[in-house]
Amino acid sequence: MEQTLAIIKPDGVSRGLIGEVIIRIERNKLKIKAMKLIQMSKTQAQGFYAVHRERPFFQSLTDFMCSGPVVVMVLEGENAIKPWRDMMGATNYKDAAEGTIRRDFATDIEKNVVHGSDAPETAAFETGYFFNALERV
Ligand code: GDP
Repeated sequence: MEQTLAIIKPDGVSRGLIGEVIIRIERNKLKIKAMKLIQMSKTQAQGFYAVHRERPFFQSLTDFMCSGPVVVMVLEGENAIKPWRDMMGATNYKDAAEGTIRRDFATDIEKNVVHGSDAPETAAFETGYFFNALERV
């Protein structure tokens, strides 16, 4: 069993897409092991996306990520990282496959509704960033 971090980004929460995303997670047999609604500070968003600090979109991305509440979740399943990323679709919704969350709902390369860890090491860092052991079932 593998765990991954999922985030419903501020655009997804403000547009009323929490239920839509969670239905897809449950239909795809990923188990929710932890979940909460939070609003990150700018510093917390910068810490979360530290790997992207040299990217030209870092300022904009971290402003966006702390612009409103997000739902953070730990998902578990067999190789959970890949099925969750498959459900999300490509970073740019214009390149995302039919039936993916980003293809169906994203409006912008940045405002792309959801986040998912991309590797086991990032999943360990990202799940630990938001949840301690007591907050996971
Ligand atoms: P992901 O793993 O598919 O989320 O993509 P990345 O790790 O490459 O990028 C992290 C997040 O930064 C993406 O989900 C987008 O919200 C944002 N992002 C990526 N590329 C761009 C870009 O070219 N411009 C802007 N404004 N945001 C971007």
